[in-house]
Amino acid sequence: MLGTGDLLTQLARCCNPVPGDAIVGYVTRSRGVTVHRADCQNAVQTGERERLVDVEWGRTGQLYPVSIRIDSWDRVGLIRDISTMVAEDRTNMASIRTVEHGDSTVSVFVTLQTAGVEHLTRLLSKLEGVKGVTAVTRSAEGSVKPKSAAQGTPRRRSVGEP
Ligand SMILES: [Zn+2]
Repeated sequence: MLGTGDLLTQLARCCNPVPGDAIVGYVTRSRGVTVHRADCQNAVQTGERERLVDVEWGRTGQLYPVSIRIDSWDRVGLIRDISTMVAEDRTNMASIRTVEHGDSTVSVFVTLQTAGVEHLTRLLSKLEGVKGVTAVTRSAEGSVKPKSAAQGTPRRRSVGEP
């Protein structure tokens, strides 16, 4: 899958890289390589730069789970609309979780099976088009961005770019 020769590779859970992302390998003590996004704080702040190795995406055909956070005004039918949009894109949703903020806004956390950055980018822009949605961000467990002060203003973020 990845161009790292004989080493065992696995994708880091902290940042969930998908094909097309800039990535870096981190050699683990068990002589495997964990692949992070190049801008992942866990990889950047390791302090052991000699353990970082260059890796690149090889041919892939598999799917990669990506966590996405959708901020929206709370409304009836929101979850249904998100689910329908994802299904119509023929994308598999591995999980969905809703957090109500008590101020008429909600955050919906979904995990989608994506083929790579292009697929992910398309999904993000479709989700931004769902009625009531104010922001869509790629997230990773433990690195969810704090809420923007400017509520109701869409926050766009280019995906996969440093
Ligand atoms: Zn990482």
